[in-house]
This record gives sequence, structure tokens and C-alpha cells, in this order.
Amino acid sequence: MSFVYTMVNQKGGVGKTTTAVNLSSALARRGLRVLLVDSDPQGNATSGLGIDKDSLDHCLYDCLVHQMPADSVRIATRTPNLDILPASIKLADAEIEIVSMRPRETRLRILLQPLRDQYDAILIDAPPSMGLLTINTLVASDAALIPMQCEYYALEGVSSLLKIIELVRLQLNPGLRIAGVLPTMYDPRMNLTEQVMGELRSYFGDYLFTTVIPRNVRLSEAPSHGLPILDYDPRCKGAEAYLQLAEEILERGT
Ligand code: ATP
Ligand code: MG
Repeated sequence: MSFVYTMVNQKGGVGKTTTAVNLSSALARRGLRVLLVDSDPQGNATSGLGIDKDSLDHCLYDCLVHQMPADSVRIATRTPNLDILPASIKLADAEIEIVSMRPRETRLRILLQPLRDQYDAILIDAPPSMGLLTINTLVASDAALIPMQCEYYALEGVSSLLKIIELVRLQLNPGLRIAGVLPTMYDPRMNLTEQVMGELRSYFGDYLFTTVIPRNVRLSEAPSHGLPILDYDPRCKGAEAYLQLAEEILERGT
């Protein structure tokens, strides 16, 4: 068993990176060999794991644009079983440079292909846009995991996201599935929350994960310490939720 998931939603700040980092760490804790691919020039997953993105010699840019082998770029993190292909701001250039290259959409897929044997799970953190980097993550993946913030405009933009997933499936990656839709920053004290959850349920049905990620201040503090939540505060609600998500994914089958 080996699977590749991309955390994708062109909306900003919905919990893609928080999910990529903490689900990676939860799966690694379960004994899976995990590779986290930071495909966002913001490099938040990279810095969230305590890596100084400004002092990297190489990053995903070099792999995508100059075909540097992943071996020369990936870094072991402080979490056992968890490696990362890091990102720095240089990756923003890839979005532009790849436009005139061939192939364009399958570069990440080609890069990850030989790594699938070395890992049980490869999780990709996509940027908040629908450019070539995000398309590359969809083409490289078995499934899309879609984090959705439990807020009033949660469903805004979702139909265009689903359309793009469908287009990628039709034209570039027939195996692409939706792993699930993950409600994030759930706050039961807000009246709106239940209404939004109801909308998500009726819109996504079985695609909705049973696991819900609560709004939890510890989750927002952990990145500034360069730690996944399981190392920063393993007993908080946020840590519990990401462990439960890992279980749900493994039980559902990938
Ligand atoms: P971007 O689109 O910019 O890449 P994103 O979708 O990756 O954003 P995150 O960076 O994971 O979103 O989260 C946005 C902000 O919300 C961050 O400051 C993060 O720490 C915080 N956050 C994410 N999930 C939670 C949560 N469950 N509880 C509290 N804060 C959270
Ligand atoms: Mg992010």
C-alpha cells in the first residue's frame, strides 16, 4: 500500500498546510514512511517542520525545473519516518518557467514516481491558487483531500475546484479520486457552524470525512515552534483530531 494525496483548495487559509504537516506526522507516528512535498512557494509546511526555508541549498524548484533528483533535495525531519521535499520562495519561479516547458503538467508526477516504492504515504501541500503547481499536484496524486473551513462562505469556489479536479481526471490523471472533504476550524460555540456543517453534509454526502478538525489555538501555535502538533502538545484536541483523521484514512482504505 502506498498512496499520494494532495491537500488542495484554491481558497487561502483553510487549513491545507496544517493538515499536510499534522496528518503527515500522525501517519509517521503510526509507523508509515511518509514524504511531505511542499509545493507552495510560501514554504509554510517547510518552516512548520522547523526547517529554515531561506537557508536551503535546494528546494522543489530545482527538481521541477532542473530535474534535480529528489535524493539531493529531500531532508529528514526531526520526526522519525517523516521526510520533506522543502519549498522556498524560489518555487514561485517554477510556476512561470514551467509554462514554456514540456511536459508541463506531469513534472511532479514524474519526480514522485520512483519515490512511491520508498514511502507508504506521500502528502503534498498545494498552494492557494489554481496555477500549474496545483495542477501538477493533482496530476501526481491518487486523491485530493479538500480542507474546508467551517465558515459562511465555505462552499464559495468549490464548484470550480471540483470542475478542475474533473478536468484533470478526464485529461491527465484518470485515477484521480477525492479522498474526502475535511471540515477545519470547527467551532461549536458559533451558531453558524452547525448550519455550515449541514451544508457541507448535503453537498458532499459520503465524501465528507467523519473526522472534524476543531478550532484549536495549539494548532496555530505549533508552526512557530517548528513542530507538528503531536510533538508540540500531543494531548490537545487538535492533536487528537489529526490522529483520528489518520485512523479514518487508513481504515477507509486509500
Ligand atoms: P494558504 O492557503 O495560505 O496556504 P492554508 O490553507 O495552508 O493557507 P493554514 O496555513 O493551514 O491554511 O491555516 C491558516 C491559518 O489558520 C494558520 O495561521 C493556521 O495556524 C491556522 N489554523 C489552521 N487550522 C487551524 C485550527 N484547526 N485551529 C486554529 N487555527 C488553525
Ligand atoms: Mg498553506
